[in-house]
Amino acid sequence: MEHKSKVRTGFSEFSKNLYENTKHKILKELNASEDDWNNPKWQLKNRISNVDEISKYINLTEEEYDNIKRVSEKYRFAITPYYFSLIDFDNPNCPIRLQSIPDVKELDESGELDPMNEEQSNPSGRITRRYPNKLIINVTNACPMYCRHCQRRRLIGNFDKNTSQEDIDTSIEFIRKHETIREVLITGGDAILLSNDRLEDIFNKLSKIPHVEVIRVGTRTLATLPFRIDDELALLLRKYRVQLSTQFNHACEITPEAVRAIDILVDHGVPVRNQMVLLHNVNDDKYCIQKTNEELHKYRVINYYLFHPKDIKSTKHFQVDISKGMEIMKHLEGRTSGMCKPTYVYNAPGGLGKVPLVPMENIERCENGYKLTTWENKTITKDLE
Ligand SMILES: *Cc1c(COP(=O)(O)O)cnc(C)c1O
Ligand code: SF4
Repeated sequence: MEHKSKVRTGFSEFSKNLYENTKHKILKELNASEDDWNNPKWQLKNRISNVDEISKYINLTEEEYDNIKRVSEKYRFAITPYYFSLIDFDNPNCPIRLQSIPDVKELDESGELDPMNEEQSNPSGRITRRYPNKLIINVTNACPMYCRHCQRRRLIGNFDKNTSQEDIDTSIEFIRKHETIREVLITGGDAILLSNDRLEDIFNKLSKIPHVEVIRVGTRTLATLPFRIDDELALLLRKYRVQLSTQFNHACEITPEAVRAIDILVDHGVPVRNQMVLLHNVNDDKYCIQKTNEELHKYRVINYYLFHPKDIKSTKHFQVDISKGMEIMKHLEGRTSGMCKPTYVYNAPGGLGKVPLVPMENIERCENGYKLTTWENKTITKDLE
């Protein structure tokens, strides 16, 4: 309880003050109103995307200024004013800052660009297929914010580009011809950056294919641009029974604005699942992950996956050892609800798919059966049947 209470959330007084303060400065600087702030188009148009914009609001040291400038010449950045306002600039390890502001460590050249070999599993259009009965369509490479830890960095090029109508239709045609495909993931980039009309066109075409049972969309707007979520979008998702996956990595991203967006979706019957990424200094701490998952549970988000980070070029500083993830998963056992315990997985290189990482100490084969260890380290035996 004590450790958990120290984790910053989007609802803590500290976060609220920080947010109001920076928000006020930005609105004043841009001569904008509260309505502008709550307008997703305004948020996108006014993204903070160069170092001089950052230094309008924050005093950067000369070294910080130079580093951000140097990195951003190689890897662009863009932060919505909303997300930027959650940064605690007095804390070098602020989880919001680490995920959004370029870091000089990104210039480390090790790691791979496409460790998943997604390019190799592209049978047609903008499809990634690694499994028999589910696949991904990448509908855009744009995102409201370019996460520094992005596991799809290869796709996030130097400019924002939506997939062409032709490539989308070719992808849908492939699905139509392959009857084993029962689930289609619409992702990006951030799929929800497409207009409602373009989304509806995709949902409508897919829903006419009899073997497609489930449509899922991937979006991080709940954390980076919550104002994009409104009744109209929720009704559209509900109409086609679309299920949603998102990414919150730290409790301080779960703000009143984010919860407003979650509520709209869940109230309209859209299931929302979280796919967290385990990231060094952002959330590789058992109390932090417990608190974050409990906040999500509280607001009716399903804790679906905890992803072990992939070895991607320019994200080495976010790497964590698997033993850390195992320790976190073991900690969650019995100390919180099963609903706060996602499946911990690693995406095997070469497009081999997801591997669940399960602590093995719980079960051991013994002479007449199994030795089982409970969350309090008590052992029991279960006979062979
Ligand atoms: C993760 C992934 C999916 C979806 O897998 P679930 O375990 O059902 O969430 C589908 N296709 C690819 C290529 C994936 O990497
Ligand atoms: S929103 Fe997703 S795809 Fe876009 S930069 Fe962030 S992690 Fe990458």
